[in-house]
Amino acid sequence: ALVAPPTTPPADWLAPARGRGRAATPSISCIVPCYNEAENLADLLPPLMTALAGLSPAWEIVLVDDGSSDGTAERIAPWTLAGPVRLLQLSRNFGKEAALTAGLQAAGGDIVIAMDADLQHPVEMLETFMRHWRAGADVVYAVRHDRHDEGWFKRLGVRGFYALMNGASRFQVPEGAGDFRLMDRAVVDALLALPERKRFLKGLYAWVGFEAVAVPYTPAARAHGRSHFSALRLAALAMDGLTSFTTWPLRAVSLAGMALALAAFAYGAFLTGSYFAYGHHVSGWTTIVVSLMLFAGIQLVSLGVVGEYVGRVYEEVKARPLYVVKRRLGRGLEGDPR
Ligand code: UDP
Ligand code: MG
Repeated sequence: ALVAPPTTPPADWLAPARGRGRAATPSISCIVPCYNEAENLADLLPPLMTALAGLSPAWEIVLVDDGSSDGTAERIAPWTLAGPVRLLQLSRNFGKEAALTAGLQAAGGDIVIAMDADLQHPVEMLETFMRHWRAGADVVYAVRHDRHDEGWFKRLGVRGFYALMNGASRFQVPEGAGDFRLMDRAVVDALLALPERKRFLKGLYAWVGFEAVAVPYTPAARAHGRSHFSALRLAALAMDGLTSFTTWPLRAVSLAGMALALAAFAYGAFLTGSYFAYGHHVSGWTTIVVSLMLFAGIQLVSLGVVGEYVGRVYEEVKARPLYVVKRRLGRGLEGDPR
């Protein structure tokens, strides 16, 4: 006989879905990508170490030196003797996404926290992150409260990017969310199982799904140095994001081509008709030149759109490693062989 289901799910219904359930005292890995951040380390590490020690007896910090040229790795080295702090030095600058991936791969904790080295991400928020995790969230991410510190041009670009990105997809990349986040082991494993080389992490975070909670915050000003992301680099990143997560531009190109061809047919028919009906001679050097340039432009843009995707395919097919590690220092979580 069929049995009606009980109205509430059993108390532990989340546990089997994750495979291994949740540890009462989870171990925590904090990964920090560092590119020319030597000045910031002495201000970052002591409060971060205190905060992590207050959250769990088993914690580690994984500092990924992304090919710095200002002696960041040398500054990190002594800290690896002061506690469970590890250094992963990449052989050159591979970019933040690669550095974060290196950190995710090295991290051994039940929970992984990612944050920047420039003190823009307040350590006080880690406690809030943990509270949400304990309440059942798999991902807790910080969202910029407001972007008023940025110019109107950048804000416009950001708006446009998210509109193009989220327009027709099944998952939404939240605007204003960055890499400052806490992730359950299940989420980290899901991220690491994605095989692509060009890793647009903002998109991948959204792609893997899971229960995510947003915590609003106002990022502090950068402590030392300047941001590494210029307008040009952000635009390149946006292009990476669009080509990794959408294919509608390709379809848009074919639709535009079809629309133009139809319009050209109609216009041709109209000219022919008016010649026979009224004997109008077709004239207009200007029309020809303008339309020639218009269509040449549209063709080049279309070729460019296709080229972006072909370039992505080429990057993926080469299957090069995401990064190369030059040196590893320090011991992390107990019993962790890496
Ligand atoms: N970063 C990195 N590799 C790079 C560029 C940046 O590892 O090629 C790190 C950087 O050291 C910092 C974080 O990524 O810890 C964020 O960089 P930044 O503060 O320059 O970016 P923003 O805060 O302006 O987005
Ligand atoms: Mg920053």
